[in-house]
Amino acid sequence: MTAADVIVIGGGPAGVAAAITCVQGGLGVMLLTDQPEIDLADAETQPPEPLQSLHPGVQTLLQQLQIEGVTAYASKGIYTGIKTGAHVSPLSTVEEETWTGHHIAPRLFSAYTLLKVKEMGVDVRFVSRANEIICSDEAVTGVVLADGTTLGCKYLIDASGRGRFAGRYLKFDEELLSRPLLSWTGISMDEQGEAPDRELALFEPNPYGWTWTAYSSNGYHTQTKLADKSNSYAFAKELSASPQAAKIKAANMQWRVFKPLACPGLLLTGDAAGILDPAAGQGILSGLMSGIMAGETVLSCLANAQLSNWYLSRYDNWFMEQFNHKKDTLTKRYREMGIDVSL
Ligand SMILES: Cc1cc2nc3c(=O)[nH]c(=O)nc-3n(C[C@H](O)[C@H](O)[C@H](O)COP(=O)(O)OP(=O)(O)OC[C@H]3O[C@@H](n4cnc5c(N)ncnc54)[C@H](O)[C@@H]3O)c2cc1C
Repeated sequence: MTAADVIVIGGGPAGVAAAITCVQGGLGVMLLTDQPEIDLADAETQPPEPLQSLHPGVQTLLQQLQIEGVTAYASKGIYTGIKTGAHVSPLSTVEEETWTGHHIAPRLFSAYTLLKVKEMGVDVRFVSRANEIICSDEAVTGVVLADGTTLGCKYLIDASGRGRFAGRYLKFDEELLSRPLLSWTGISMDEQGEAPDRELALFEPNPYGWTWTAYSSNGYHTQTKLADKSNSYAFAKELSASPQAAKIKAANMQWRVFKPLACPGLLLTGDAAGILDPAAGQGILSGLMSGIMAGETVLSCLANAQLSNWYLSRYDNWFMEQFNHKKDTLTKRYREMGIDVSL
C-alpha cells in the first residue's frame, strides 16, 4: 500500500530540503529518521556539541525553503574570515563588505528544521530506520523499516548521509577517489589567558592533513582534524591532550561517489550520493542544494512520467558535475598546500 507519494530517508540538510521541495510542490511526503524527536526547549539545555560552520551563502537556500530562522536559532558563534598562518581570507568577496558565517550546533539545526518540516505537512517518523528496499518491475516501490513495517511510495529519496543506505543496499558501484581519510572532532574549553580573535576560524594545514578551529561565543572551541588513516591516530591524540567537553568523534571521510545516483523510483542525494572531506567546504549547503534538486526531479517525473528517465539522468549529470568541480578544486588546493590524498 502507498504510504506517501515520496518517502525521504534521513532528516539532515539534504533530507529536509528534499521533503520541503516535494511538499511545496503539492506531494504527500513522509520523512523517516532513525533519530529521536528533540524538543526545542530540551535541545537548548543539552551539553555542548561540536559545531559545524555555515557559509553566509546558505541563507538564500534556507529562505527558499522557508527555514531561514534556523541560522539564528542554531548559531553558537560567528566568523567573518578564515586565518591560515598570518594570512586572513575574508568570507566576503566584495571589498569593504563584511559577510558573517555562523558556527551552528547540528542538533539544534536538526530539531528546528524537522519541526518546520512537520508544520509544513510532512509526515515525519522519528526512530524509524529504513532497513530494506522494495523493488518491483525494475523500479523501487517502497521501503521496509527495522520493525518490519512496509511502506510503499512512488519515489524514494535516500538522504541517509554517510550511512549511504540505498547505494549500499542495492550494491551500486562506489567509486573511491582518495586514500582512506579520517576526521576527528573534539570540543574543549578555551584555556585561561587564551584570547583568540573569535570571529576568525582557523585553518592550519600540515603534511598529513589539516586542523579547523571554530570558536563559539561561550568559551568553547570545536576542532576538526583530518588526516590520511595511517597518520590520523597520532594526530587525534593532540585532541585528547586538552580536556574534552564531549566524546571525541571519528568519521570516515574517504572521497567517494555512487554510480548511478538515480534509477526508476529512487534518487540518492547529499552525502548518501557522494562524499568529500569537510575542507571541500559547504557540506550543508551542498546537502540543501542537492536535496532541492532531488525534490524538483521527483516533481518533474510525476508531472511527466514519460520523460522520467530523462529527468533522472539529468539529475545524475547535475550531481556529478558539481561533485567533480568541488573535487577538482579541493585537489588543487591540497596540492598547493603540499597535502596528498590521492589513492
Ligand atoms: C567531522 C565533520 C565536520 C563537518 N563540518 C562541516 C562544516 O563545518 N560545515 C559544513 O557545511 N559541513 C560540514 N560537514 C559536512 C556536513 O555535515 C554534511 O555534508 C551534511 O550534514 C550532509 O547532509 P546530509 O543530509 O546528506 O546527511 P546527514 O546530515 O548525515 O543526515 C543523514 C541523516 O540520515 C539518518 N539516517 C541514516 N541512515 C538512516 C536509515 N537507514 N534510516 C533512517 N534514517 C537514517 C541519520 O541519522 C542522519 O540524521 C562536516 C562533516 C563531518 C563528518
